[in-house]
Amino acid sequence: MEKPLYPSPYMRITQGYNIGSHKGSFAIDEAGSDTGIDNILAPFTGVVKKVYTSDANEVWLESLDKVEYPDGTIDYMTILFAHDNNVNNLYIGKVIKKGEPFYQEGTKGIATGNHCHFECGKGKFTGSGWYKNNYGTWVINNGKDPTECLWIDDSIKILNSNGYTFKKIESEHKEEQEPDNDQPDNELPDNSKEPPSEDEENKDDTTNSKLIFTCQKDDIYAIRLKKGQKLYLE
Ligand SMILES: [Zn+2]
Repeated sequence: MEKPLYPSPYMRITQGYNIGSHKGSFAIDEAGSDTGIDNILAPFTGVVKKVYTSDANEVWLESLDKVEYPDGTIDYMTILFAHDNNVNNLYIGKVIKKGEPFYQEGTKGIATGNHCHFECGKGKFTGSGWYKNNYGTWVINNGKDPTECLWIDDSIKILNSNGYTFKKIESEHKEEQEPDNDQPDNELPDNSKEPPSEDEENKDDTTNSKLIFTCQKDDIYAIRLKKGQKLYLE
């Protein structure tokens, strides 16, 4: 099951939700890597439900199947995207694969600087797709906090998250990683519990030795010896 991915490889959120022109909505503005026009990638495999060219070239993409929300909820998701300067490539019923660059930042409609305004909605596309809120702004039906809808992963560079925290999809490579090889070599057998050596050759020499130190870990140690003292290592 797909986990909807944040739709830009560069997260640079220039306006958050419920503030300014986003008052009363869960819309956010994604401005991409720089002031130019970046692609917007499909967060899930979906189908275009509506294209509205009379305003900001708004496009509604509804997930083809149910998706997994970051809190574990399983449901359809619909996202409204706005400001692409040209949506001639999109039509109702067109299926877009997850990760496919299908939309672009732009300035169509009321937009200062290239960006993509988008809003996540829970469930399938309903009615006309949006409604006019108390502030006179058209907002998506069943709008939901984007951090409760979208995931991020290692492919997304966060330039400005606007203070938002998105749940991360754990990298699939992580579980396959080799054990850490920086650890000391532990393959030498641990002799500490073996019975004392029965080696007759050394028996006389070690009879009078007494234990003064048990080495706890591999390292270089320095000791002071008096003339005539003997050092035995076990
Ligand atoms: Zn906006």
